[in-house]
Amino acid sequence: MQLINEDWQSALCVVAHPDDLEFGAAAAVARWTGQGKTVRYCMVTSGEAGIDALTPDECRAVREAEQIESARIVGVDTVEFLGLPDGVLEYGVPLRRAIAAVVRRHRPDIVITNNFRATWGGRNLNQADHIATGMACLDAVRDAGNRWIFAEQLVDGLEPWGGVREVWAAGSPDSTHAVDTTATFDRGVASLAAHRAYIDGLGWDHFDPEEFLASAARGAGAALGTTYATTFEVFPMGWGA
Ligand SMILES: [Zn+2]
Repeated sequence: MQLINEDWQSALCVVAHPDDLEFGAAAAVARWTGQGKTVRYCMVTSGEAGIDALTPDECRAVREAEQIESARIVGVDTVEFLGLPDGVLEYGVPLRRAIAAVVRRHRPDIVITNNFRATWGGRNLNQADHIATGMACLDAVRDAGNRWIFAEQLVDGLEPWGGVREVWAAGSPDSTHAVDTTATFDRGVASLAAHRAYIDGLGWDHFDPEEFLASAARGAGAALGTTYATTFEVFPMGWGA
């Protein structure tokens, strides 16, 4: 496991659902905002299909509020919701277009998404929206730098942005890099706990955010030589890597 690069100033996290970043990456985000870096969140959906007892219209506002609070806890004050439909995202041009527009507006050095491999390791299946979003992210980062792709977006001063150096997929079973999250682990836990209505709605008996995050972070930390860590699969956005 290699140390992840921290020589950058701004990151954009693009994930399918509220809670996706909190199930692992948020402690790393807290570390980076603590270093004075800018991290912004973009949620492709509002997770409105995520709570069985709430209709999507009831659920959307609850989950957006929980996400904004959980972002605040780790030093993130920009949270955007693209409003695409939860549960039925499709990998393809419309999703690439939506993500490319966000990349062009924020002009990040690094784009962070969720694991988009078929599983989380072993036989634990990943979820369709995560897979679609991660794959579309990789493409959208390239699209964002090409003025002839989604050219209709380039109005009112919006320019192409080809400055994303790497895309990172958090929690991938093929992770290559990690960051020490020992000092910010607790803020990661608080940020997951902020998804109260969602966690309650899962109906998992005795779910403890701290215990859940610690078991994954401990394994990653062992690979890095720290108490806790968060892992990422790194995709360089150029040739020669
Ligand atoms: Zn999710």
